[in-house]
Amino acid sequence: MNARSCGQVLAEMASFTPCYRSGSFGMYIHVPFCLQKCGYCSFYSVAGAKSWYGRFVKAVLRQISQAAPASWARQRRPRTLFLGGGTPSVLPAESIVSLVRQCIQEFNCADEELEITVEVNPATIDYAGLCALRRAGVNRLSIGVQSLDDNELLCLGRVHNGAEARESVVLARRAGFTSLSLDLMYGLPGQSAAGWRNTLDQAVDLAPDHLSMYELTIESDTPFCRQQDKGQLNLPVEEEVLAMMEYSLEATQKAGLHRYEISNYARPGYECRHNSNYWLNGSYFGFGPGAVSCCSGERTTAITDVARFCKLVESGQSVITEQERLTREQRFRETVIMGLRMSCGIAVSSLEQRFSLHPVDYYGTVLKRLVDQELIVLNCGRLQLTPTGFLLANRVMSELV
Ligand code: SF4
Repeated sequence: MNARSCGQVLAEMASFTPCYRSGSFGMYIHVPFCLQKCGYCSFYSVAGAKSWYGRFVKAVLRQISQAAPASWARQRRPRTLFLGGGTPSVLPAESIVSLVRQCIQEFNCADEELEITVEVNPATIDYAGLCALRRAGVNRLSIGVQSLDDNELLCLGRVHNGAEARESVVLARRAGFTSLSLDLMYGLPGQSAAGWRNTLDQAVDLAPDHLSMYELTIESDTPFCRQQDKGQLNLPVEEEVLAMMEYSLEATQKAGLHRYEISNYARPGYECRHNSNYWLNGSYFGFGPGAVSCCSGERTTAITDVARFCKLVESGQSVITEQERLTREQRFRETVIMGLRMSCGIAVSSLEQRFSLHPVDYYGTVLKRLVDQELIVLNCGRLQLTPTGFLLANRVMSELV
């Protein structure tokens, strides 16, 4: 395979310049509620906990106010806000609006061009609610479609059907959202390459600005994992999954959605800034139970228990249950691995500037072997995965971790 020319790399980056900004950070709010648990899901979220919604929102509003005066926040400017979960859209629209407004007000960023994303489930949105979000400044929606086949959705344990997913896109456009992302999954139980083509073709016809496509992975301690252990999960064979991946590239290319990260595709200019900050290993601050924050080399995780989270915030105590100070080398390696997820890779000059380490010197023979195997290239001053490297990304990353 030939490395892309500098011209191609620069053209790709013209609309998407994921440069690391040391003086900025992303904000994340984890909403840990879902209508029901999907069979494959290992995220922290609880179903049937409606009675906790109000108390949770109050606790997070308070947590945001408490965080804003901290020195890390005063020294940096927020660039993005992402409400994820769980299913943020199970909350009433006015609760989501109050969380967004609190962030804008407390972090004093009304004049910033913030990217504000809310993850929604097609079964939990309506036109009036979407209009309220749009008015409050939410400018990006990430719709959890996963599949447009009703049988597959049922098997995944999703609460929506294909028609509701299609309708959610229509409603979002009508409410004024000009940046829409759809989440899809492939490699599902019983799914054929033809089935995946059918879902992807329909998704592309909905003209999304952004697509995230993830292969189903079986996480431990999930219902899917238990079914697999009993031999009850009929997953597609490797060749079938490879055919799905191949078709994903073909269909997105035809639709003008360029692959800018292993699993993410966008129209030029519609790449997700919030997630790009993670891939650049930038600073971020998370609110809510289970949310992770990382700032100045310190990573913390909040308690994954909504009741205890609320009680701790209400009594003014810390919600942190894990705290880790990362060494310079740990941060360097994490930055390399995360950066390689992006098609444009990672600038060697930026690594040297941030960590005073050069990947060629640091990784020595390990990197040389990956280059000789045509899995990685050093192209125009950037370390990048080749197309084969993208296919074998897990293997490459495990050598660099
Ligand atoms: S809706 Fe999302 S967070 Fe909730 S159970 Fe399903 S996959 Fe997990």
